[in-house]
Formats: sequence, C-alpha cells, structure tokens
Amino acid sequence: MKRPSERSLRILIALLSIAIILLSVFTFLVKNGFSIKDIFPKAIVSEFSAQPEGPAPAVIIDAGHGGWEPGAINGSIQEKEVTLAIALEVEKILKEKDISYFMIRNDDTYVSLEDRIKIANEKACRLFVSIHNNSYTDPAQRGVLTAYNPYSDTGKDIAGIMQSRLENLGMRNRELMPRPNLYVLRYTSMPSILLEIGFLSNKKDLKLLTDGDFQQKCAQQIVLGIEDIAAKYFPDEVKNSAKD
Ligand SMILES: [Zn+2]
Repeated sequence: MKRPSERSLRILIALLSIAIILLSVFTFLVKNGFSIKDIFPKAIVSEFSAQPEGPAPAVIIDAGHGGWEPGAINGSIQEKEVTLAIALEVEKILKEKDISYFMIRNDDTYVSLEDRIKIANEKACRLFVSIHNNSYTDPAQRGVLTAYNPYSDTGKDIAGIMQSRLENLGMRNRELMPRPNLYVLRYTSMPSILLEIGFLSNKKDLKLLTDGDFQQKCAQQIVLGIEDIAAKYFPDEVKNSAKD
C-alpha cells in the first residue's frame, strides 16, 4: 500500500493532466472556428440554412410562440396552436396567390425571439407579420388590434392598413397600439406589425379562435392586408397587390 499523501498527489497530477488535455483540445477547436453554440444547434438553424438561396421573400409570417413556450393559455387551448393554425392558413393563401413568403415556423417548434429577428433580417423581406392572440385577467376584454413600432417611419401606416382588414372579422375593433418595446417590432430591420387576434381569456373570442372556419377567415383578411400594404409599398414584388 502506498502512503495516502503519495496517492493523493498521483490523483491530483492525473486530474491536472486531464484538464490540460481538455483545455488544449478546446483551444484548438476555437482556433479552427468552433463556436460554443455548435454544442447546442437549434433545429431552426439547419432548417434555415437548408433554404434555397433566392430573392428576398415579400413577407415573413411569424406564428407567435411554439415548442416549450405556449404563450397564453386557457384550459387546454394554447396560443402557440392558434397562431400556428392561422399562420398555416395564411401560408396556403400566399402560395395560391404566388406571393413570396417565408415561415418562421410551420410546426410546433420553439424559435427564440433573437432567431426570429436574425432570420427576418437575413432574409431581408419587405414586411414582417407576427401573429399572436391576446389574454388578460379581465375576461370581458376582447377584440383584435394591430401593434406597431412608433419609431418606425411606416409602422403606423402599415398597421392601419392591416387593421382595416382585420375589422372585417367581426371582433371588437381595438384599433392600433404603439408598442415600442416589443422585441420583434423593435429589432426587425424592415416594416413590421404584430397582430393580436382576439383574447383567449374571453369566451366569445375563444370560441371564434378555435373554429377552423374563423381561422381561415382570419388568414384571408391577413393576406388581403398584406396585398394592400404591398400595393402601396412594394407593388413590383407582389403581382396581385391591387385592391380587390
Ligand atoms: Zn403571444
């Protein structure tokens, strides 16, 4: 048997050697362009880079929340499901009308706010449309509104154009709301709006929002809004951008 002090020393030397080897390997990897982020690749990154290179899409559709982040909840209804259902209906119509688009998510994937912005800014689309549903402690609150960045030159005008379509949904018209600190409105480099379609916390709105026909109707109005905005701001990029 070796003396305990000698044994401790050997263990210490062994641990130090392992630490030095790990540090050398890490230094080598970093020097060769390895990023700590590579350890945790996000699904969206590979999905995004797999997109074919081409002209910038006219519009980016951002279905709010997703994955482990449900957004507002009322019973078994989660905002992330409602926003996705509406976004997928929007996608169908955009495809039919041959309007170029990019979906931030088209399934139940978590995408961070930073990634949403990064994708939008890299794609350099003309318009960013984020789809959300509201919720409030007072269940009497209901209706639809369009939020915009008050520091954007075109934000309010674009929001107004969209809201005048969303008024047709038959929900209470909550008009426009300046939201300077909403992440996706603040950091997108293109005009952006965020739609708060109904309140999940309101019985009447909840019934509408979970109805497939209503989701389709929402999508129709959103696309009409996009076409109206395109007619004014980027008519060459959307062929069907004449008012109906
Ligand atoms: Zn939301």
